[in-house]
Amino acid sequence: MDFNDTAEEAAYRAEVRAWLEANIPKTAGSAAGPMDDEDEAGMAAAKAWQRKKAEAGYACITWPKAWGGGGGASWQSVIFGQEEAKAGAPSTGPFAIGLGMCVPTVMTVGNEADKERFVKPAVLGEEIWCQLFSEPSGGSDAAAARTRAILDGDTWTINGQKVWTSGAHYSDFGLLLARTNPDVPKHKGLTMFWIDMKAPGVEVRPIHQMSGASNFNEVYFTDLKITDAQRVGPVGDGWKVALVTLMNERLSVGGGGAGSNYKRVLDLAGDINTLTGLGVKDAALREKLADWFVQAEGLKYTTFRTMTALSRGQTPGPESSIGKVVSATLMQDMANTAMDLEDQYGIISDPDLAPLAAGFQNALMSAPGLRIAGGTDEILRNIIAERVLGLPGDIRLDKDVAFKDIPSGR
Ligand SMILES: Cc1cc2nc3c(=O)[nH]c(=O)nc-3n(C[C@H](O)[C@H](O)[C@H](O)COP(=O)(O)OP(=O)(O)OC[C@H]3O[C@@H](n4cnc5c(N)ncnc54)[C@H](O)[C@@H]3O)c2cc1C
Repeated sequence: MDFNDTAEEAAYRAEVRAWLEANIPKTAGSAAGPMDDEDEAGMAAAKAWQRKKAEAGYACITWPKAWGGGGGASWQSVIFGQEEAKAGAPSTGPFAIGLGMCVPTVMTVGNEADKERFVKPAVLGEEIWCQLFSEPSGGSDAAAARTRAILDGDTWTINGQKVWTSGAHYSDFGLLLARTNPDVPKHKGLTMFWIDMKAPGVEVRPIHQMSGASNFNEVYFTDLKITDAQRVGPVGDGWKVALVTLMNERLSVGGGGAGSNYKRVLDLAGDINTLTGLGVKDAALREKLADWFVQAEGLKYTTFRTMTALSRGQTPGPESSIGKVVSATLMQDMANTAMDLEDQYGIISDPDLAPLAAGFQNALMSAPGLRIAGGTDEILRNIIAERVLGLPGDIRLDKDVAFKDIPSGR
């Protein structure tokens, strides 16, 4: 593992810092970013920043220039991401699912016409995508999808429901996993499609969260008609296509972000009094701080390991699941304690009134979601157990049973 930048990496980092310094709008700084449909100003800022990055070759750095990318290397993308996060650039959260998961899937599996049509507008921030996989009957087990697609001539008719669809309320397109054959085992009867989220037959119902925001939605399909040209990959190969999306999801959800919260907790502990005196002098809190420091450092070095692999042209493997398992729990623990330290102010979530602009309150409310999205803690631990540590596999009783014969409780 290399801990320091090579001369080439250091030069690139300096170039990126200078560009960010010159280009980040002075009014930027919303780390949370626009996720609510009411936040029109946040969405406009996100779109403007995405376009600016794309025009300078800093959006989708590893993608070919012909498709709007930067034509660069993976290590450049990691360095840009690190510097962009530090510099307080406007959030580009609304594009994360499209550019991190859906569009890479279209690029890998889709036909030339789809690549031509969709990649560049997405890189420029003109079109937003959502991922329509999870259903009430299948989240961790995405292959249990029941949303049905039936072909008649050249037209598929789609009926069913998805849930937890982040950003569906502002998305233009969605990548939809649907059941096309219930007579074969569950992984074999799925097909992937792209759909127009504004088409008749698509209904988006926002879910109200404890934070007050509505970042994700239920999406209902009632006799939605799409053409066979909207199929992404062969009929019956939907699970293989979904794996392409999920592999990209693991990498883009990743970890490491919680490490930066450590300094903020440490500063808070150095500033605030507990019953036994200054926070940093409190033995119980010191123990936690030491624990978190170890975890935050572990995350930092795991990121170095990923970056070293990328620099050497390797693809990070299932061990990248470690980052999310550790960082989401770490974020939750630190936010919990920070709110305790803030005492009666800990319950205030208004950023104009709460200490540190309610940063820890927001972290506490989003941490449970982070522990679930992109693979729950348990699922990621299974992956680490089976594919990193080589332990025996989970028991999968329904693997060879026709999907229609799997008991559904209905
Ligand atoms: C913030 C957020 C954003 C999301 N965005 C999207 C999105 O844009 N698109 C989308 O399609 N989905 C999205 N999801 C859904 C997400 O992918 C699912 O919530 C997740 O996969 C878990 O599925 P589930 O909620 O159905 O829980 P379940 O799969 O029902 O799991 C319930 C519990 O059982 C445990 N469990 C399940 N299977 C096993 C097993 N084999 N071994 C051990 N334990 C197990 C789980 O860990 C969990 O604790 C989002 C979720 C969140 C929280």
